Amino acid sequence: MRVEFLGGIRTVTGSATLLERGSLKWLVDCGMFQGGKQLEERNRKVQPYHAKTLSFILLTHAHIDHSGLIPKLVKEGFRGRVICTKATLDLCEVMLRDSGHIQEMEAEWLNRKSRRSGGEEANPLYTVNDAERSLKYFQSLNYDDMFSIADGVKVRFKDAGHILGSAIIELWIEEEGQERKLVFSGDLGSSDQPIIQDPTWIEEGDIIWLESTYGNRLHKSREETVQELLKIVQEAIANQAKVIIPAFAVERTQDVIYTLSQLMRKGSIPSIPIYIDSPLAISATEIFKRNSDCFDQETKELLLGGENPLEPPGIIYTQTTEESRAINEDQRPAVIVSASGMCDSGRIKHHLKHHLWREASHIVFIGYQGEGTIGRRIVDGAKTVRLFGEEIAVKAHIHTLGGFSAHADQKGLLEWLSHFENPRLEVFVTHGEKKASIELDQLIREQFHFKTTIPKWRERRVLFGAEERIAPEERMMEVSPPEETLHVLLRHLDRNYKRLRRKLKRGRSKEFRDLYWLKDLEEINKKLEELEIKLE
Ligand SMILES: [Zn+2]
Ligand SMILES: [Zn+2]
Repeated sequence: MRVEFLGGIRTVTGSATLLERGSLKWLVDCGMFQGGKQLEERNRKVQPYHAKTLSFILLTHAHIDHSGLIPKLVKEGFRGRVICTKATLDLCEVMLRDSGHIQEMEAEWLNRKSRRSGGEEANPLYTVNDAERSLKYFQSLNYDDMFSIADGVKVRFKDAGHILGSAIIELWIEEEGQERKLVFSGDLGSSDQPIIQDPTWIEEGDIIWLESTYGNRLHKSREETVQELLKIVQEAIANQAKVIIPAFAVERTQDVIYTLSQLMRKGSIPSIPIYIDSPLAISATEIFKRNSDCFDQETKELLLGGENPLEPPGIIYTQTTEESRAINEDQRPAVIVSASGMCDSGRIKHHLKHHLWREASHIVFIGYQGEGTIGRRIVDGAKTVRLFGEEIAVKAHIHTLGGFSAHADQKGLLEWLSHFENPRLEVFVTHGEKKASIELDQLIREQFHFKTTIPKWRERRVLFGAEERIAPEERMMEVSPPEETLHVLLRHLDRNYKRLRRKLKRGRSKEFRDLYWLKDLEEINKKLEELEIKLE
């Protein structure tokens, strides 16, 4: 069988893997690239398959960097099933719709700009309508149920403990009378995360895809992190200031609500307003309440005792933009939780504009800040950042609290891997920025002696076969229609010719004197002339 690494490779976004066995083709995850123009361009690039030829998509969890291109695929003719857990389906309903809305807004913004400059019209990647239409292809599967999805292909979802409904995907594939097992870690949670379960240990597998978001970092313990947050909130209360928390609408927001709720219950902080200023986070919290079967023991017990840790006193959900604006008039010390988590879109940008320049305010980062995002710039110590066309000074207290992460750290990833019993396990290190993947890759080889690879983007490989990996360049020739191949070849020829000319110009022709390059060039020239004559 064959695999192509389509995303979540040397980056944490755009997760997607194409698998092929004979004529059967399917994807594991279908995520959107985020974080800068260059990466995001990949969302529009032609995929190396026709959406119509895919039989199904297996989805690890609802985060947009894993699910965000599904509506685009449906728009392009995908008519198979998207298999995921029930909670993932519920979350995708609100998240994909929200993503469609963001796509529409962005296209509109671009169009306003291009109309002024007489440029071309931009189409949204997909619309709210496309997102809604894609939902009818979703089908849910319970954790731990074995499901035969095609002849000789079975799948099972295990709790990944990352966000509500998140799954590790186990995949058994029969080929030429042999059954092999692939495991996709998806995003793995850390074991002391509240509300949801810990990641499930897996013992069997032949090849696994392992995420490496924090492959080069260790988190502080949960307890230390809660203490840090407590100190920040106390200081803000003493100074009548605000605490701004950019948070991903799913999981991080609920985690913050849970933690503040516990601190209030213990009397560590008084009941202050907690604004949840993100319509998506509000819907997500509702979905959490509907899927309490996914909760861990501790949370289930709290609920049984009549206490809902997702509804602390003082919590204020702001749905409309007017309500959101009114937050600025509240003079009391307060916590404002808003999305997006990496500060690139959503209402958080307004709150940053109001508070980044105030010395008394606190900005608390609790999630991963991807390369190229506004959040990453602030964390990296930028003196100013640009928001809504205005340069805003960064004077507020900036905090990063790693212990709130929804991802396992280096230790957690290695611990999860240690449960595999197969000494010949092969590991693809994915879903991490280059540095993180490299460090984890090295540790895995040292500690477990597994065969490891950090794949390249769009690299293709043959699994369980004698064939070697196929480099992206060679593959291009192999799968492209002749016309496209011709253009690629001509481009290469042009580029190589120009390079050679430059070298000769720089006076390096003497170095070529002893080589037989003159003869080679003569030959190439002759071939080109022949071709041209044939075309006439
Ligand atoms: Zn995720
Ligand atoms: Zn992810």
